Amino acid sequence: MLRTELEIVTFEDLLYHYPYRYFDRTQILKIGAINPQTEFAQFAGKLINMAEEGDGRKHRLVATLFDETGRIELIWFQGINWAKKNLREGDRYIVFGKVAQFNGYYNISHPEIEPFTSEASIPGIQPVYSTTEKLRLKGVTNRSFAKITQSLFEKIKLHDIPEILPSAIITEHKLCSRYYAILWLHFPDSVQHEEMARRRMKWEELFLSQLMIGRLRLQHTIQQGWRFERVGDFFNNFFRSHLPFELTNAQKRVLREIRQDTATGRQMNRLLQGDVGSGKTIVALMSMLLALDNGFQACIMAPTEILAQQHYIGLSGLLEEMGIPMKLLTGSVKGKERKAVLAALADGSLPFVAGTHALIEDTVEFQNLGLAVIDEQHRFGVGQRARLWKKNEFPPHVLVMTATPIPRTLAMTMYGDLDVSVIDELPPGRQEIKTVHRKDVTRASVMEFIRKEVDKGRQAYIVYPLIEESEKLDYESLMAGYEQVKVWFNENKYHIAMVHGRQEAGEKARNMQRFVKGEAQVLVATTVIEVGVNVPNASVMLIESAERFGLSQMHQLRGRVGRGAEQSYCILMTGSKLNDESFKRIKIMVSTTDGFKIAEEDLAMRGPGEMYGTKQSGTLKFKLADIVADADILEETRDAAIKLLASDPGLSMHHPLRYMLGRQANQSHWGKIS
Ligand code: ADP
Ligand code: MG
Repeated sequence: MLRTELEIVTFEDLLYHYPYRYFDRTQILKIGAINPQTEFAQFAGKLINMAEEGDGRKHRLVATLFDETGRIELIWFQGINWAKKNLREGDRYIVFGKVAQFNGYYNISHPEIEPFTSEASIPGIQPVYSTTEKLRLKGVTNRSFAKITQSLFEKIKLHDIPEILPSAIITEHKLCSRYYAILWLHFPDSVQHEEMARRRMKWEELFLSQLMIGRLRLQHTIQQGWRFERVGDFFNNFFRSHLPFELTNAQKRVLREIRQDTATGRQMNRLLQGDVGSGKTIVALMSMLLALDNGFQACIMAPTEILAQQHYIGLSGLLEEMGIPMKLLTGSVKGKERKAVLAALADGSLPFVAGTHALIEDTVEFQNLGLAVIDEQHRFGVGQRARLWKKNEFPPHVLVMTATPIPRTLAMTMYGDLDVSVIDELPPGRQEIKTVHRKDVTRASVMEFIRKEVDKGRQAYIVYPLIEESEKLDYESLMAGYEQVKVWFNENKYHIAMVHGRQEAGEKARNMQRFVKGEAQVLVATTVIEVGVNVPNASVMLIESAERFGLSQMHQLRGRVGRGAEQSYCILMTGSKLNDESFKRIKIMVSTTDGFKIAEEDLAMRGPGEMYGTKQSGTLKFKLADIVADADILEETRDAAIKLLASDPGLSMHHPLRYMLGRQANQSHWGKIS
């Protein structure tokens, strides 16, 4: 039962099933002191007037508890027989529970109740455990949990929970021992001890994860890689004659970092972070040219078909002038065409390919893959990154590009094994996108505004939410929206395209292309266009039902405009009633275009698992630690991990740590990465 409900299998699991809060039961409140703010409270008094009342579902047992200051009613709807058997009128009891008010009287239903014989019967601080409804019905209540854990603690000795952290670290960081940490987490005898215990176990969690990341990093540094010895004609020729604009300083710096990495003979594992529109693609292309200069093939992998296609069209356009072939490989490239691409990759006649996950399938063989660029990383699992490694005798260099700005703490836990490059500068001439919040009722004027922009020769996106849970309804409102837009915009004069996930890949691509080429002025879409799509002429992003979007998602969508020199607009359309959270999100969006600020807010509001879809990955699953709230501990543990690994990279002098890491590797996907 515990196993299926809470994944508790061993005694040890029980020890690690920490309480999620505590009830302070050291104090006894006078009944007369109850006020409307009183929540959980404890009373001591005499029990009188026990009686059964009501029938059927209203059948209940009521009793009165009184002390010298007042009286309160106790009510049981369940466990009536137990109460009748165990409680006696006239006896004194300690009662604890949530105080409620009914008809002007205070009461507690299903109180925790025990005989009050002396001061010693006052329980102290009581842990509260998460249980499930099923367990509660079987009688496994919070109380019984506490009792099981308590009796477990009576049996185990100090040495049953040995220390795993080196004593130097314990001293330096003023941590309490593991035994006391776990004991105090369950049964704190004071608030101070509870805090010490909590800090110690958070420290341990974060330290172990930093050790794991540190070891991965060490592995990368010894992993042999291809040496890109020279900057050759392809790179130089492109830089001199084909580059459509001047690189920003940030782009130049990142390219230098990539050149240095790839020249060492070790495998590059670099994360390229840059806000939407910062110009990552050109960096990718020039890195690919560098690979080609050194006789290697290169691929660029995107999370969606549309993005892969866009890279293919954009890059092959630039490459054409230089006579460098590039092909597309996605799920919808089939038959003869696919065969040809596969053959050309295998015999080396095709230097560059853009694609989706299709690229990492086993059937795809490269003659000599030297660089893999992964765009919009957070959609690829870490495991998929690892699959790329097997595509050559040594793993290719890996450049991971992400447009979602990653707050520092998250980067330390998610990508701590990668070197990080940042493009912190937008190409010149960009104007800040104007963001406004509009309510449904003003739709007419919003549409009028968009039409004016379109008449100036601009293009507009209109995006509808789509989530799995309400997919059918969402599609219906997308279709309704499309019909409406066609009415707003005279169909003879304007062209409206629509893309969504239910369209077949070819149709989706055709519609998208109509917008990319400027044949359609308005694109009605779901969030399939969220990342990467690049149409510099688009100047309006209208987000419908914006209250349903997350912060990072809205920021990504907004990043689709403001890519050219024109003033661009982002309109967040909502209903007239907004809950506090949605309102806060909209407010943040209106007040800033700084992707890092938005990512920080998003992380604080939603937590890392939600935000990056890494919930299942196991890499961010901490029992106690929170990488936002505990950023200070995270920094400490990172430094400590680096220091420890510097003196003992194999952890051969720290067996307990090695053992713990090994165990975690089995439990999560970590093992697969290394
Ligand atoms: P992202 O980082 O979001 O992937 P892109 O690589 O798609 O951004 O670039 C956004 C737009 O900016 C593209 O139209 C690209 O051609 C343009 N761009 C990139 N670098 C520069 C630059 N240094 N100067 C001017 N325009 C640039
Ligand atoms: Mg991009």
